[in-house]
Amino acid sequence: MKTSAVDLIRKKQQLGEMSSDEIRDLVQGFLSGDITDYQLTAWIMAAYLNGLNRNETMALTREIKASGESLHWEDLKKTFPSRALADKHSTGGVGDKVSLILVPLAVHLDLIVPMMSGRGLGHTGGTVDKLYSIPGFEMDLSPEERQHALKTIHACMLSQTATLCPADKKLYALRDVTGCVDNIPLITASIVSKKWAEGVDNIVYDVKFGEGAFMSSFQDAQKLARSLVDTSRDVGLKARACITRMEEPLGVMIGNALEVEESLWILKNEYPSELHKKISRPLRNLCCALAANMATLSNTRKNYSEAYEECQKYLDSKLGYDYFLKLCELQRAEKEWWLKLPKANQVFEYKSPKAGFVNKVHSLKLGKLGVEIGIGRQKQEDRIDPRIGFEILSFVGQKVKEGDTLLKAHLAHVTQWKKVQQALSEIFSISDDKIEEPGELVCETLN
Ligand code: URA
Repeated sequence: MKTSAVDLIRKKQQLGEMSSDEIRDLVQGFLSGDITDYQLTAWIMAAYLNGLNRNETMALTREIKASGESLHWEDLKKTFPSRALADKHSTGGVGDKVSLILVPLAVHLDLIVPMMSGRGLGHTGGTVDKLYSIPGFEMDLSPEERQHALKTIHACMLSQTATLCPADKKLYALRDVTGCVDNIPLITASIVSKKWAEGVDNIVYDVKFGEGAFMSSFQDAQKLARSLVDTSRDVGLKARACITRMEEPLGVMIGNALEVEESLWILKNEYPSELHKKISRPLRNLCCALAANMATLSNTRKNYSEAYEECQKYLDSKLGYDYFLKLCELQRAEKEWWLKLPKANQVFEYKSPKAGFVNKVHSLKLGKLGVEIGIGRQKQEDRIDPRIGFEILSFVGQKVKEGDTLLKAHLAHVTQWKKVQQALSEIFSISDDKIEEPGELVCETLN
């Protein structure tokens, strides 16, 4: 007999451990309408306050996955026995365009990547929005187009469909409006269920910490990483997590078409200037590190350092650029789309108010400013402007003179500049004392 909604809520309220059957009753009851939004919300709040243990987290993950379709790639595994299916998931950050660069690298390391991404919400951007700034690019491919891409170039970039984990969408919406998003077991079940439903065997999580990230402290990022890896294993997937710094924005560009442009510089190994190249370098290195982790986790490569160097050489060779153009062609991008990327018609320079050393670029404030001017969205239904964004021309530790350009703002209207300029004065901080440049972005890898 099914447990009643009130009993399910009371059990979590009173710190009881819920059985797998009870969690099934909860999720299925909600989907069928027997459990109302307000009852599920009460349960979510109890889980938020009292926690879910490892078994409960696994059961919730399983039920969210079972709420929709799952993808299967058995034919690809049979056709390409020396390759392995892998994907990465990032908890999101400001300027995070990693997926665009990572896919060519991962395929180069003999992986097959049916990458599934989401739209951006809040101050962190989404891969779907970035790719849709490419004229003609389509992420909603027919099953035949998907198979064709995976067989010929071993990757495709898809958007999450409504049929995959529909329970997650509903649960997330209730968490979002009740202040229950930032909870490790609930985040874990939400993320792992979607990756599991994608049908890949190997997953590398990029768990970011810092002011521009979901988890602001390193310790919280470690906890989330542990939970993601453990739950993935519990449901039969191979997983690893890289804990990476997100104190400053990732790379030079923030904004949808601008981030595609920066990805092309890295894939082509051609940059507008030495300064652009230097600021993009940690991003390039992070992409190589994530690809090398995907390959060593999946056993297509044995040695991490060698796989990492192989990625660096591949980027030096510019072959990643040819690969990316091919992927765009198979995903219906227009001919010579790279000449037609949307561009803002107004570019303004923000200059350093004094001489000194750049000691902070506040990524969270910059991300939030981006949402206000239309780079990202506050609500799912908000419209974004793919043309606009920021080009960061300074880095922490850099010595600057008064009047040096710290950032270029690519805007749609001159009227936006006043507001942006005012906000930027709080985003860059210049100190008199010399500041060390921060090191590499990956701080810990967790198995
Ligand atoms: N990203 C997700 O997909 N789910 C969460 O709950 C949080 C971040």
